[in-house]
This record gives sequence, structure tokens and C-alpha cells, in this order.
Amino acid sequence: MPISGLSDPSLFREQALIGGSWTDSTSGKTLSVDNPATGEIIGTIPACTAAETEKAIAAADSAQKRWKTRTPDERAAILMKWYDLILASLDDLATIMTVEQGKVLAEAKGEVKYAASFLRWFAEEARRMDGTIITPPQRDRRVLVLKQPVGTTAAITPWNFPLAMITRKCAPAFAAGCSMVIKPSELTPYSALALAVLAERAGLPSGLLSIVTGEAKEIGPVLTASPTVRKLSFTGSTHVGALLMEQSASTIKRLSLELGGNAPLLVFDDADLETAVAGAMGSKFRNSGQTCVCSNRILVQSGIHDRFVARITEEVAKLKVGNGLDPKNTMGPLINDAAVAKIRAHVEDALSHGARYASAPLSTDGRFVTPVVLEGVTSAMRVSCEETFGPVLPVFKFETEEEAVTLANSTPFGLASYFFTTDVSRAWRVGEALDFGMVGLNTGSVSMESAPFGGIKQSGLGREGGHPGIDEFLELKSFHMAGLKF
Ligand code: ADP
Repeated sequence: MPISGLSDPSLFREQALIGGSWTDSTSGKTLSVDNPATGEIIGTIPACTAAETEKAIAAADSAQKRWKTRTPDERAAILMKWYDLILASLDDLATIMTVEQGKVLAEAKGEVKYAASFLRWFAEEARRMDGTIITPPQRDRRVLVLKQPVGTTAAITPWNFPLAMITRKCAPAFAAGCSMVIKPSELTPYSALALAVLAERAGLPSGLLSIVTGEAKEIGPVLTASPTVRKLSFTGSTHVGALLMEQSASTIKRLSLELGGNAPLLVFDDADLETAVAGAMGSKFRNSGQTCVCSNRILVQSGIHDRFVARITEEVAKLKVGNGLDPKNTMGPLINDAAVAKIRAHVEDALSHGARYASAPLSTDGRFVTPVVLEGVTSAMRVSCEETFGPVLPVFKFETEEEAVTLANSTPFGLASYFFTTDVSRAWRVGEALDFGMVGLNTGSVSMESAPFGGIKQSGLGREGGHPGIDEFLELKSFHMAGLKF
């Protein structure tokens, strides 16, 4: 059943955008996309082939050769037009996202604005890609360092932020003068396709952006093996990131990888209780717990532990689980049945190793899962070492700061972390000691267009957003001018 209630139904497309043409796959094959809240089929998308992926790459390559010659102002103007069109379609884009992804409408609207913010940020950055002049040792020489676009690039994006994970990649790419072939998640392709409709309306040149829909195993290897694709930007699981890294080795591709996390959230005895509860609620239950920066382990010092557990359990009981289109609901369904099965397995494993419910027990209905609070959680449980990616809040108790930092850092991942304290010395000590790419002090939110986002260790490579975000799409060229007469 197609998405109803759109004021601009032409935003809903069931075709791929390959080299400037909206097309079905020559294979004739399609994939169905469902609504995780109802299980209903929303529509289909073309299962694009290797040949179609090659076609998109060739078109991106030729479009990029012209795009890079446009002035930064001209590129920025198109990105700003696209930004305006996205905000003008905010309600429709949010509806499409809620129907295909499940998140509640208020969060979907927040994501649309967040997604648009990258276009504005990088439109501004396009005008500041200044190089440098080196002071050379030789009298007759000057050395300039030029910044030039990487060229044709590709992106593979996930289902949890179907718009923002795309604009965070393509906005800096286009600002820098690159082109991009995008394979969106097969679970949430309609947000990506709607974004492409608006890109065309904004005047993005034909072929500069392609949206190749279909199966990862068909499209992914073509993108990684192509010598034309000079860079791949990926957001998804560490397992797939490692695979893409291997596949990209033969073409020495530049990579940005934003992978899994296992975020700790530390609450010290001197924390403001209400600030800590609000931060933990936001970082844990946003998108039903399905974000790579969701707090996965809640570490609480013994002096505040019981009060924290009691207060957060009260807040958790207020969450209303249901279809995200209904404004009274505050938490939508999980993305698929496998996600529900993982939650059940993690909770059962924790209970079997001695954890207890502080909240009402877990109950599931289709892909709807009630949020739960577990206490008495230890490092022996799966929730401590695997990303749960769902609405389970596991509380560990600790005694000392040193113990908490050691426990927080005892993971191969290093994406986001959070801690709550009112002691300024502790704020510095712990902030510097946490081995994560992002640290939130007295907040459960670390994502914004103007700050670098990314992880260390097995959480990835490179940074998105902020000033470094555009550097990911620029090469440095040292231009040596010799024989100058002074
Ligand atoms: P998640 O576990 O969050 O679904 P994935 O890493 O499986 O994360 O998916 C993120 C993106 O990577 C999606 O677009 C998905 O289709 C894609 N993907 C999954 N497997 C592969 C693969 N083998 N090669 C290329 N892309 C892949």
C-alpha cells in the first residue's frame, strides 16, 4: 500500500535514479519494502544489477568533471536551494521516513531538519576550502598546497537515519566538487529517493548523484572494485565495514567508516540526578534504541545508584510504544524481526546470569518491544559486550572513578560515550580518559552538523560533519614552483 497523506505524492518514487534517469532494473527484479509498524508492503524498488551500478559510476565520473569547474558559490547555491526544498517538504519527508523506518513522527521531523543542516553547513564550507603556502628552504621556490576534490565517490548507508546518513556524506562531497553514487539501505530506500527528487528540483546536475537501489551483495562489490570510485563512505556494522575495507584494498580507495559502538554512560555520585536521567533517556531510547551512539551500558556509582534506577524506571514507564504516525506514541517499532529476536536474547541472557528487572518485564508484539530497565548487570552478560540496538537499559553498579573508566574503556569499540558529574576536575579527568571519538558531559546527545562525528578503534575511520567533514572529500596537492627570480 503506497504512502497516503503526502501533500506532494511525487516525492514517493519506486524507481532508482541512475545517471540522471529514473529507471526500473533491466533484470526486472524488484525488492519489497515494508512498514515495520504494520508489516504491510509499502511498495517495491528495483533490484539494480552490476551493469546499472557501472552505469551510475560512469555518469558520476563525467558529471564530476564538469561539477568541479563550477565555482564554490555556484555549488553552494544549489546546496542551499536543496536545503530550502527539504525544509519545505518537511512533513512529507517525515511521513515517508516514519512509514518505512518506524521512528515516531516527531523524531522523523527532527531528522529531516538534522539532515538538511548538513547541506547548509557544507554549502558554507564550500566557500572556505583554502589551501596554504609553505615557506620553502630554497630562495627560488614557493610551494602551494592546493585542495582538490577526490573525484567520483560512493556511499553505502544504513536504515536507522535514512536521510541524515546520506546528507552527512553527499553534502561535503558535492561542496568539495565530487560526485556520489549512493546505495541506500534496502529497508529504507524511499527517503533516499525523495531526497533525490528534491536534488533534481534544486538543480543538481544530472548524473552527479545516483541512487542505486537493491541488494548489497550485487551493488557493493561493484562500488568497491571500481577504479573510478576514488572514495567510499560507509555507515553500518563493523562486520560489513571490515568487509568493505578488504574489498577496497585492491583499488587503494579512500575510506570513511562509521561503524558500531558500545557506548558507556557513566553517572557519578555528584551528578545532578534529573540531568542524568534526562540524558540517559534521550541517549538510550531515541529511535527505539537503534542508533550507533545509543548508550549501551549504564554505569552508575553506588551512592546514587538506587535513586537513579528508581527515577529512570518511572520515566521508562511513561514511554508510549506504538505506530509512529500516531502523535501520542513516543517510541516506534524495531526495524525487523531479527532486531526483536536480538533484544529477547540479550534480556534472557542477562536474566539467566543474575540481572533483575527494575521495570515491567519485556513484552513484544510484532516488532513493538516494551522498554525495560535491568539492574545487577555485569561484564559476564552479552549486553556488556554486544551492541543491543534496542530499548534495553542495563545498569551496572560501580564504586570508584578508576573502576568506571576502566570498565567504560574495556571494549574494542570507541564511538560515543557520556558521563554525568558536577565536579569540574572530574569532568576533565574522565573526559580525557574515555577512549571514544565523542564524549558527552551532562548530555545524552553528541550529534550536530558543526562538530566532527566519528569513532576510534573498531568504530571506524574518519570524521563526518564539522570542519574536517569536507577534508574527507579533498586531496592535498603540493604545487612546487621553482626557478623564481627574486
Ligand atoms: P545494520 O546491521 O545496521 O543493518 P549493515 O552494515 O548490515 O548494518 O548495513 C548497512 C548498509 O550496508 C546497508 O545499506 C546494507 O545494505 C549495506 N550492506 C550490508 N552488507 C553489505 C555488503 N556485504 N556489501 C556492501 N554493503 C552491504
